[in-house]
Amino acid sequence: MKKDQLLTRRRALIAGAAALGAAGAAGVLASGGGDETARPVAPAPGPDPAPQESHVLPPSDYRLQPLTGYEQVRPAPRMTRVRHQPFLRVRGRGRTMVLTFDDGPDPRYTPHILDTLAEYDVRAMFFVCGEMAVDNQDLLARMADDGHIVGNHTWTHPLLTRLKRSQIRSEMERTSDVIEDAYGERPLWFRAPYGAWNRATFQLGAQMGMEPLAWTVDTLDWTTPGTRTIVDRVEDGAAPGVVVLSHDAGGNRSQSVRALRRYLPHLLESGYHITVPRRRHA
Ligand SMILES: [Zn+2]
Repeated sequence: MKKDQLLTRRRALIAGAAALGAAGAAGVLASGGGDETARPVAPAPGPDPAPQESHVLPPSDYRLQPLTGYEQVRPAPRMTRVRHQPFLRVRGRGRTMVLTFDDGPDPRYTPHILDTLAEYDVRAMFFVCGEMAVDNQDLLARMADDGHIVGNHTWTHPLLTRLKRSQIRSEMERTSDVIEDAYGERPLWFRAPYGAWNRATFQLGAQMGMEPLAWTVDTLDWTTPGTRTIVDRVEDGAAPGVVVLSHDAGGNRSQSVRALRRYLPHLLESGYHITVPRRRHA
């Protein structure tokens, strides 16, 4: 009985998130400069023996048929455009906010963050690094079970703008591979380490079917400024559509774990709906 109610609530939350995704996508299109209409993504180099037609899935089939059946080349879903800038915020009805946690998963901190999110029945985003994910696949599985979104944050967290295109591709593709194995689907979002985007990262992200997401409010929690300072930065920065950046790995993240326990109930009491963006494939 109680479990049924919980499931019903989860379904309602997911439905709410879907509405946000549609609005969020529109917001980025509006801010993208109008230069993005139907520009084809260059096919990835490499052997591609299959006829092109076999790679193209109608939009309605995209989610039902993950791109697991192809050899060598993973073509982009047609609807993923090459952006010129990342999402900085999302748009939804009312006071919506998105919490994101980067660089993990780390078994010392990520489980505590997941526990807090579960306690308040809240969904968040985790931009994971492949080299962390490969050793902590159980945590990616839990993220899937709990309804969180896992995004691609490269394999080794390099400054992508200093890498060759082939290296950027490898960093991103290997990470999407391990996410698919552990989380159950390939990521639909990516975030460049240090927020250092360039044309190649946008193009490659689009080829791999991912949208670029940056952030609105940076907690700078990696500088370990103190739990209270992190809490203040989130609560001072709270506003509709805000995307918050925090970290669940990369150093001692005890402050980030403790801060979430404080600011999350405050945000909810203030009427914020903490949710995740959803991609629209139409
Ligand atoms: Zn990072």
